[in-house]
Parts: sequence; C-alpha cells; structure tokens
Amino acid sequence: MARVVVVGGGPGGVLLTYLLARGGVEVTLLEGRHDFARRFRGDTLAPGVLEYLDDLGLAHDLLAEVPHTRSDAFRWHAPERTYRLVDYRGASKRFPYYALLPQARFLPWLADRAREHGATVLMGARFSDLLPDEDGRVRGVRYTVDGQPHELDADLVVGADGRSSKVRSAAGIEATELGASLDLLWVAVDQHPDDPASSGLDLFARPGGTIALLDQGTGQWQVGWSIPAGTFASVREAGVEPLIDALASVLPWLAERVRAVVTGPNDLTLLPVRITTVDTWSKAGVVLLGDAAHVMSPVGGNGINLALADAAELANLVVGNGDPAELEARRRPAVEAEQRRQVRTEQAAAARNAAGDTGPPTVLRVLASIPGFSTLAARRSRVPMPAPEPAIAGARPSVAAD
Ligand SMILES: Cc1cc2nc3c(=O)[nH]c(=O)nc-3n(C[C@H](O)[C@H](O)[C@H](O)COP(=O)(O)OP(=O)(O)OC[C@H]3O[C@@H](n4cnc5c(N)ncnc54)[C@H](O)[C@@H]3O)c2cc1C
Repeated sequence: MARVVVVGGGPGGVLLTYLLARGGVEVTLLEGRHDFARRFRGDTLAPGVLEYLDDLGLAHDLLAEVPHTRSDAFRWHAPERTYRLVDYRGASKRFPYYALLPQARFLPWLADRAREHGATVLMGARFSDLLPDEDGRVRGVRYTVDGQPHELDADLVVGADGRSSKVRSAAGIEATELGASLDLLWVAVDQHPDDPASSGLDLFARPGGTIALLDQGTGQWQVGWSIPAGTFASVREAGVEPLIDALASVLPWLAERVRAVVTGPNDLTLLPVRITTVDTWSKAGVVLLGDAAHVMSPVGGNGINLALADAAELANLVVGNGDPAELEARRRPAVEAEQRRQVRTEQAAAARNAAGDTGPPTVLRVLASIPGFSTLAARRSRVPMPAPEPAIAGARPSVAAD
C-alpha cells in the first residue's frame, strides 16, 4: 500500500497514523482542528490497550510523561451501599487498571511520535470531498487549509473523522441509530487537597438518574449527570438548580463548587449519546473506523478503546498487504456485541431511573455479591487488541529516542 490519507485526528486516526508510519507506509493525517485541545471525551484506556502500547514500547513513556489517573475499579454508590462492580486489579498483570488520560494530552503525544516516524500531520486541514477515478474508485481527497482548497492522491482514504463523519457521507454510507436512552451533561470543577478519595471511576445513583465522578489527573473533577435522551430542553426550562440539588444529595462536599461554576444550562456541556451502525465499513478505496463506523455509548467508556482496536487491526491489514475492506469482518462482531450490551444497559438504566430505583441492575447486584465476579467482569472488559504485524512490532518505538 503506497499512500494512505487518514482523515481525523482522534484516537483512532492518530494511532493508525503512528502505526502505518512505523510500519513504513507513506501516511498523511488531516485533522480539521488546529490543535488536539478537546474536553469531555472518552479518556479511558483499557488494560488491553495499555498492554498493546507496551508491546510497542510506548506505554512506559506515555504513563511516565503524561499526567493521568489509574482506576482499579468501577464503583456504583447506592444510598445503602457501594458496589465494586468491576475490579480491574485482576484484569492484567502488567496494567491492573484503566488509565484515565485526557485525549487532549494523549493525542499530541502520539502525533509527535508519528511525525518522528515520518508521518505527515496536517493540522487545520479540513476534508471536503473524495476524489473518484474513472471507475468510481476513490483515488484521493479534497481538503481545505485556511479556506484554501487542496488535493491529495491516495491509494487508501481512511475515514476516522468521528460521529458526524464527512468521509462517510461522501462515500454514500448512511449511519443508522440503534437507540440510545440517555444523554450526558458534563462540567469540570477544581479538586481540593482534602477531597474524599475516589476510584477515578465512580457512579452515584439517585432517584431519577446517576452522577458520574471522574478523575483524570488534571486537578479537576469531571462531573456528569445522566438525563433521559433528548430532554436537555426541559433542563433549560427548569434551570440548573434541580441538577445541583441532585448532586448535593449524593456529593454534598462538591455542591458549592459546582454551584459556583454552573450558573445556567450554558455552563454545561451536552453529550447527546448515540449508538449507531453502518451497512458497510468500506467502499472501493475508502475504509471507516472508530466512531465514523460505529458511535458507541459512553456506557463502559470503550468508544476510545474500540477506535484504537480498529486502528490496530487496519494497520495490520495495510502493512501486511491485506485487503483493508477486511477490517469490517475482523472488527464488526466485537463492536456489535458491545453495542447490544450498551443498548440493554441504557434501556435498563432508563427504566430504573423512571422507577426511582438507585441500585445497579438486579443481575449485577446479584453477581457483584459472588466472590470473583467483579474481577471476571474486568477480564471481559479488557478490549482485546490484535498482535501488531512484525513490520510494526519490529520497528523502533521512536526514531528520535535513538
Ligand atoms: C463531543 C463528544 C463527547 C464525547 N464524550 C464522551 C464521554 O463522555 N465518554 C465516552 O466514553 N466517550 C465520549 N465520546 C466518544 C469518544 O470520545 C469517541 O468514542 C472516541 O474519541 C472515538 O475516537 P475516533 O478516533 O473514532 O473519533 P473522534 O475522537 O471523534 O475524532 C474524530 C476527529 O476527526 C476530526 N474531524 C472531523 N471532521 C473532520 C474533517 N472534515 N476534516 C478533518 N478532520 C475532521 C475531528 O476534529 C476529530 O479530531 C465523545 C465524543 C464526542 C464527539
């Protein structure tokens, strides 16, 4: 495969760019924004992903250089007790935790390493269209930088441009909603030295919804309210006091800090949760990966991990001279299994919220009482990554480091 253009510098696109460059492929990344600054994204690197990065010789430097938090458990706090629903301590010998590491720090770190391997990373380069050859096969892209149009030839164009993928629509591929039941509202507030300890991944249940409390090593708490899908308009009408009252009922020590920052609905960031699929992940000369192919719910926090797994698999196909279209056969079953779980979990959560139930789903409540279950649950959520092709694994982790 001579030349690859990757559209979109999210986790999937940046990892793919790195792996292709390291495997000796000529690759250009087009990222529409001028920087990687972004907030409130999927920032949870799974143990299996960390093992993969370790196999490439990257994990040690990443975790040493980039501030983050290590979460060894996902905890559900009901009024009467706390459930340690998933315990990552047995999930991996090398990385018995999820690394909570903001994309705003992870992406520039990895993009720099991609550049060291010879990748071209174009920031502020916005994809506008696909260029077909006379047989209809895609032979390149049109993009703009500062409003100026450019063209770039490619043997393969990868649409890694996220949930509203323009590559996907330009290729004539439609996304279908599978039915999300919840939306999320996020805000970040400063941490104080005497704040209570957190696992990094804590969910507090209250009648009518849950509140997430995440710690990503930024010196701030990320606080998220779940609300029924499509009801942000009623939050606007009611104002933010009911949300802050709900927070005060489960995290009283944080309420005043949040009240000082959230004075109206515009101070909240809405994530309209979506779960989508597409009929096909590829057309001649184009492949989709990550959210462009399958938007995931934040339930389980694996949108980022599945995008990274797609990138690892596609890099193997390209570097190993396989057919890039085979990505779909290799990845779709795992993605769809996760999406089915997410739809079920969200529907059950919406039903429990409507009924005012504050415990975790009954089945999890029962299973959580069985010794070893939470470790088993963590093993299942490891997100298996493919072994890197020898041409990728064998290459030096970083040219500049030598
Ligand atoms: C606003 C938002 C909030 C999210 N919040 C959460 C959360 O709270 N929890 C959770 O688990 N997951 C969350 N996610 C999902 C999670 O971040 C994704 O699953 C993960 O980042 C997928 O990575 P990706 O590489 O497929 O795509 P993305 O991370 O979406 O990256 C796509 C990239 O493509 C670029 N791009 C888009 N259009 C163009 C174009 N025309 N030309 C060039 N570049 C382009 C974008 O700037 C972006 O950098 C959120 C996603 C979004 C969009």
